[in-house]
Amino acid sequence: MGKITGFLEIDRKVESYAPVEERIKNFREFTLPMEEKDVKDQGARCMDCGIPFCHSGCPLGNLIPDFNDAVYRGKWEKASEILHSTNNFPEFTGRLCPAPCEEACVLGINEDPVTIENIEKNIAETAFKKGWITAKPPLERTGKKVAVVGSGPAGLAAAQQLNRAGHQVTVFERDEKPGGLLRYGIPDFKMEKHVIDRRLEVLKEEGIEFKCGVHVGKDIKADALKNDFDAIVLTGGATVRRKLPIEGADLKGVVQAMDFLGQNNRRVDGIKDLGEEILATDKDVVVIGGGDTGSDCIGTSFRQGAKSVSNFEIMPMGTPDRPKDQPWPFWPMRLRTSSSHKEGAERFFSISTKKFIGDEKGNLKGLITSEVEWVTVPGQRPQLKEVEGTEKEWKCELALLALGFTGSENTIAEQLGLEMDNRTNIKASEIDYKTNVPGIFVAGDQRRGQSLIVWAISEGRQAAHHVDKYLMGESALPLKGDGDLPRV
Ligand SMILES: Cc1cc2nc3c(=O)[nH]c(=O)nc-3n(C[C@H](O)[C@H](O)[C@H](O)COP(=O)(O)OP(=O)(O)OC[C@H]3O[C@@H](n4cnc5c(N)ncnc54)[C@H](O)[C@@H]3O)c2cc1C
Ligand code: SF4
Repeated sequence: MGKITGFLEIDRKVESYAPVEERIKNFREFTLPMEEKDVKDQGARCMDCGIPFCHSGCPLGNLIPDFNDAVYRGKWEKASEILHSTNNFPEFTGRLCPAPCEEACVLGINEDPVTIENIEKNIAETAFKKGWITAKPPLERTGKKVAVVGSGPAGLAAAQQLNRAGHQVTVFERDEKPGGLLRYGIPDFKMEKHVIDRRLEVLKEEGIEFKCGVHVGKDIKADALKNDFDAIVLTGGATVRRKLPIEGADLKGVVQAMDFLGQNNRRVDGIKDLGEEILATDKDVVVIGGGDTGSDCIGTSFRQGAKSVSNFEIMPMGTPDRPKDQPWPFWPMRLRTSSSHKEGAERFFSISTKKFIGDEKGNLKGLITSEVEWVTVPGQRPQLKEVEGTEKEWKCELALLALGFTGSENTIAEQLGLEMDNRTNIKASEIDYKTNVPGIFVAGDQRRGQSLIVWAISEGRQAAHHVDKYLMGESALPLKGDGDLPRV
């Protein structure tokens, strides 16, 4: 442990943000880096708990007190080694993770938790700056070939682990560039795409082959892939978007959030041929859906110059503090206010959209909502009930549907004869990630449904261990909880 009295003397400090009026002028990241001394002080707040609950909160089992201590002592290279022993891409999670580890931090019981995520980002950025992150190709090749389908965080993590084990890995991606939702979902203002590119360079140098613009199931039949590879890892994400089947849903101006976000990220990347442009410029925008995707639509709309942005959420407003029935160290369902919300969006809760209204040319010009309440009948699931007399018409030229995803596409599953689960994800056990077809594994959102980057990396790593074991009879690739390193 670093400073025994650190948590008593030092207050929590996190990165600050550029002012709203500055940051909405462009799509760049807007966090202001912390001084090295401040990051080390934050590491000193860690109590090195006998039972570090932060570990259990982290889906990767990151060795948090160990790297906190190393940072406090200024041993940055050691900290990077510890962090990379459980997380292939801390520069992604250090920017984007909702940090379940911080919700589980023991200090959080009666103080502000340790700023674990910021420390993680600073370790990763220091390591890149100092040149410690270099390609480490395997010393020997096994002669086995593995196909990874999908290059989001799950696919990239599985690919790097399997390549480390000496297998020849090819990643197939239907988009123009690798990265999955990191590249064509999450806006640049949350993570600039050079952060993905610099990591991809390392992966390529280690010997992983990327085949982009290849849609498995269409351009190559999935069963053909089976003949060419010794094992396949499916990491195609949960890409089927939830619809809003109400009157007017086909009007011009009612748009799926992923079409809007994907197009904007491509525009920021300098791609010119984007088809019909979807822009929030000078429009009254309504974002329907109060999650991460909705929040990203808000920030993107402001940067495109929207006249106003309103955000609708069908659930009631949460409390900013942890609800009593969700005690520490569990992940609490509470009101979360993102940096995008703070850029000027008006938020409305317990509201349901009933109808879109168009003009004579079929363009969206407004929508109608009503307030709703959730009625609980003992023994039944809560029922949604409209509150009478609360109908309201809103002016709106762009409605963005950020309603989440219902599961995985099923083309590959059909071609390979894979079973789906009752939530329309590809079925595989959380223990070994095996599908019902030998040699085919599934990980990330395509297995667990819409989730988080940290879970995708975790599943990619875990699945890689089991693929390696399937191919070689045993595996030295680490599983979660294996990484008990000696203390610094
Ligand atoms: C807008 C948005 C914002 C988000 N923000 C956050 C956040 O801030 N923090 C966080 O932790 N999580 C966030 N998430 C969730 C997170 O991005 C996902 O949980 C994570 O990316 C899932 O990783 P994955 O590798 O399983 O799949 P994905 O990232 O979805 O990648 C799947 C890839 O597979 C490719 N693919 C699919 N089928 C095929 C095929 N047949 N052939 C070839 N390629 C194929 C797709 O093109 C895609 O590139 C966000 C999600 C969205 C939509
Ligand atoms: S729970 Fe919090 S204080 Fe305890 S070891 Fe983990 S980060 Fe440090």
